Amino acid sequence: MTKVVKNTIIIRLLAAVLAWFLSGDGVVMAGNDITFDSLALVRDKQVLAGTLPIARLERLAESLHEASGALDYRVHGAIDGRQRPLLKLQVSGNVRLQCQRCLDGLAHAVDIDTAVRLVAPHALDQEYDDNPDEPDCVVASKAFDLAALIEDEVLLALPAYPRHAAGQCTSAAAAGDGAASSKANNTFGVLQTLKQK
Ligand SMILES: [Zn+2]
Repeated sequence: MTKVVKNTIIIRLLAAVLAWFLSGDGVVMAGNDITFDSLALVRDKQVLAGTLPIARLERLAESLHEASGALDYRVHGAIDGRQRPLLKLQVSGNVRLQCQRCLDGLAHAVDIDTAVRLVAPHALDQEYDDNPDEPDCVVASKAFDLAALIEDEVLLALPAYPRHAAGQCTSAAAAGDGAASSKANNTFGVLQTLKQK
């Protein structure tokens, strides 16, 4: 193979990769800092996917037994039946909760598949809909903070009173129901704060 032919092949490959990247159908892998133009994601029907270290999510980390591991996420722009912009969000991974009976670690699988509706900042009050079947409204932004949305959704999905199955607690000494710790209150406090938003 001559050098010219080789170079042509490389250039064609690069062009194909670039075309795929710009096509809007591809998955854009994001780094740790996940902000994006939320309405552009909807307009371009883009998909954004990546992995978020749990240690980066401070409010979530405070509610956990250990802030280890990571969450996989995938978000894509869509519209609902009334042509309103949505972000569809999937989050999965494992977190270590604290058992409220024995205070030891407890594995919990996060598996979220939800949607939020994007609204203009001034329209948030009018658009608010307390129908539980309707997606929650969030403010659209050119620098939409996806990590904050993921953190809110995971916190809301955590069990309020995590505990091992009967007989599975590791520490018999703390196996009474009175073992609700400051961490439990902490989790509850975070959830209350979220609900007041
Ligand atoms: Zn336990």
